[in-house]
Amino acid sequence: MSTVTAYAATSAAEPLTKTTIARREVGPHDVALDIHFAGICHSDIHTIRGEWGEVRYPMVPGHEIAGIVTAVGADVTKYKPGDRVGVGCFVDSCRECPACLAGEEQYCSNPGMVGTYNGVGRDGEPTQGGYSAAIVVDENYVLRIPDSVALDAAAPLLCAGITLYSPLRHWNAGPDKKIAVVGLGGLGHMGVKLAKAMGAEVTVLSQSLKKMEDGLRLGADEYYATSDPDTFSKLAGKFDLILNTVSANLDLSAYLGLLALDGTLVELGMPEHPMPVPPAALIFGRRSLSGSLIGGIAETQEMLEFCAEHDVAPEIEVIEPDYVNEAYGRVLASDVRYRFVIDTASLR
Ligand code: NAP
Ligand code: ZN
Ligand code: ZN
Repeated sequence: MSTVTAYAATSAAEPLTKTTIARREVGPHDVALDIHFAGICHSDIHTIRGEWGEVRYPMVPGHEIAGIVTAVGADVTKYKPGDRVGVGCFVDSCRECPACLAGEEQYCSNPGMVGTYNGVGRDGEPTQGGYSAAIVVDENYVLRIPDSVALDAAAPLLCAGITLYSPLRHWNAGPDKKIAVVGLGGLGHMGVKLAKAMGAEVTVLSQSLKKMEDGLRLGADEYYATSDPDTFSKLAGKFDLILNTVSANLDLSAYLGLLALDGTLVELGMPEHPMPVPPAALIFGRRSLSGSLIGGIAETQEMLEFCAEHDVAPEIEVIEPDYVNEAYGRVLASDVRYRFVIDTASLR
């Protein structure tokens, strides 16, 4: 066992504080890595605040991890010390259920993927995430970061990147598709870049026009404010696919009205409370409402290669670990441009 420095939440209401946590011995199939960068995802905040259920405090968040391998177990074949690697939202799964066998470990049903934090590992110990100096992970749940992707920019790809890449692929984003991205935050800005790189026509639907210049620079063809009721009449029936990345409740019925015949609205944001859906909003236009959860290991690796090939990277603000509580306040105020990434050097 080793002891590493980390930032942990001790309750739903207290600020995160510096502490130490234990990491397990490097087992035969394990990879140990020094964490260099960890992204801040809105899910970290939902989780800490107990909005998604029970939390095992003290809890170290962080599931957008980029670092360098320091040691590998005797049976590890995929990685060696010095390799540039990433870890995303889960660190294990049953490996036997239909989802795991299909390489969609995020949908493991037996009983579910082991979250990078606030989960329980095979050893029965709580999992602790990336706001820390180092981590030990089974090699099958580690990603290779392509040489041309900087480590700090790689971190947000491990959650925000794959969470948008997977539905874009699943719903066949391409030149013949009109796609709307709702919410221009960490997830949303990756959605704009990835959909554009796949050749789709992309529209941003943001609360206001404050970030319009950024949205267009990131690759959006059009940009509308959802605070303007005209937006919903102007764009009625336009989109094949709407990706909702908003972390709060929206009037889904209004957004479903923006779908073309047979269009799909995909829920990616996961606010705490239910959102009512009037049946007529689905029936007229044979519209679908779906959801999508991150992506499997193979698809995450594919996404990293895609980003390297198409020069797609997040826009990040690199921060020191002791800025994390302030950063949370800015995320909650939709004042993030467009992902905070913690430089963990001072924790090592
Ligand atoms: P984020 O950076 O905070 O972005 C969310 C964006 O939603 C904001 O930038 C804002 O965009 C918009 N928004 C926030 N509050 C709003 C409100 N009250 N009304 C309307 N729009 C609002 O968060 P994120 O890290 O991208 O995560 C977004 C959501 O996705 C979270 O709920 C997170 O837990 C979830 N998530 C899901 C998955 C998955 O696998 N499905 C993976 C990761 C995260 P504008 O300022 O442009 O309006
Ligand atoms: Zn996340
Ligand atoms: Zn499984």
